[in-house]
Amino acid sequence: MKLYRDAGLRRIKLKLSGNPEEDLKRVTSVADVFPGELTLDANQGYMDPKVAVKALNEIFNTVGKRVMLIEEPCPKGDLEKMRYVSEKSEIPVFADESAATFEDASKVIEASAAKGINIKLQKAGGIYWASKIAEIANENNVLLMVGTMLESSISVAAGANFVSGTPGIINSDLDADLYFSVNIVEDKTVPPFKYGSRLPSGLPGLGIKLAEWLNRIIEGDVNVAKIAI
Ligand SMILES: [Mg+2]
Repeated sequence: MKLYRDAGLRRIKLKLSGNPEEDLKRVTSVADVFPGELTLDANQGYMDPKVAVKALNEIFNTVGKRVMLIEEPCPKGDLEKMRYVSEKSEIPVFADESAATFEDASKVIEASAAKGINIKLQKAGGIYWASKIAEIANENNVLLMVGTMLESSISVAAGANFVSGTPGIINSDLDADLYFSVNIVEDKTVPPFKYGSRLPSGLPGLGIKLAEWLNRIIEGDVNVAKIAI
């Protein structure tokens, strides 16, 4: 966390465990060292919504408004539990796993089950459906963030374009390609970090160019494929 702080990061995301004591300790330990904003993600870790509310409000009372949001506190698809937590938690609840598709997102909005939705292009079915989710969320004053699955720089670039051109998005979480040891696009066309977010490179289309070695594989150069694998 000290490294992140010293590198100038202004916001980080923490995964929660679903264990109230451990989560309070985890968030407060990080907040003691890292002065920026925090977003939380329980990944459905809290089975009991009452336990979730108590845990989240304790975190909020200790760390304060620096905690921006909590993703998916309870098991996915249980919109009653999500609404309960959303109504009683001081930390805004965002649907993620429960809002995979446009249809899912519509149900979350209709049930007033969350204050926000985490749009992922891959689970939504691409830019068209992601735009439809954004549209219905904006119409209903539901906040938006944009995340990723485990993805390369190609679709992260699509996410960066989507974030840049879509209103109502308060947080973007586009880092999946940073986990890969080999990049499949030219380094200089990897979406850069700027203003706390990933931005499109400025080139036409998604703004990326495939790496030279990948182009050679596509053209049928089997020897390069062997090296890459
Ligand atoms: Mg999530």
